[in-house]
Amino acid sequence: MIILTVEQAVEWMKVTQQKVSANKDLLTELDQAIGDGDHGINLDRGFREVVAKIDDVTYDSVADVLKSVAMTLMAKVGGASGPLYGTAFLKMATTMQGKEVDEVVFKEAVNKAVEGIKQRGKAAFGEKTLVDVWEQVANFLKEEPVEDWGALPEVCQATMEDTREMMATKGRASYLKERSKGHVDPGSMSSYYIFEALAEVRKS
Ligand code: ADP
Ligand code: MG
Ligand code: MG
Repeated sequence: MIILTVEQAVEWMKVTQQKVSANKDLLTELDQAIGDGDHGINLDRGFREVVAKIDDVTYDSVADVLKSVAMTLMAKVGGASGPLYGTAFLKMATTMQGKEVDEVVFKEAVNKAVEGIKQRGKAAFGEKTLVDVWEQVANFLKEEPVEDWGALPEVCQATMEDTREMMATKGRASYLKERSKGHVDPGSMSSYYIFEALAEVRKS
């Protein structure tokens, strides 16, 4: 059974853009607390470009949509998160290439995305980065059948909240050492929006 169509993939990115843009200031405030204060600005710009691009083109496959998303994010977001999100979407696209996206393919795509961002960021679970949310999603998908994927936003939100009391050991926030505690990781929050958007699109 196909669980993500081309239209849903496009819609996924549009809803993500709406969430990121609506929460641009919040993401930026989080990054002001433990980084350089540009995460909301970077992602708002990036996902607006993503939507402008995918609205302009007709795609034959989900892989093609996500490949285009990856290229745009890599080119337009910058910072640490641009290459990391670019890698995540590119790995998903590569895994989906030539296939319809059923449950098995989607799980495998997220697994490959997690591998890719961990490698690229040299980060592991529990280091207070977006890896935390992505790996939690991969684990959730492994355990739960597609009928239960509606719980994905709650799972991501809980993981995002868990980053609050962590000490960052990767990225700019790691410069603050103990003082990085007490703030949610901005990349975990934007990743939460991405998967909240996915759940909403699959429901509608
Ligand atoms: P920058 O830190 O370059 O300004 P952003 O503010 O756009 O980039 O993104 C910061 C987010 O990127 C962090 O909140 C964190 O989730 C993620 N991040 C930073 N460094 C790494 C890393 N080495 N591995 C995984 N994720 C990282
Ligand atoms: Mg930043
Ligand atoms: Mg920056």
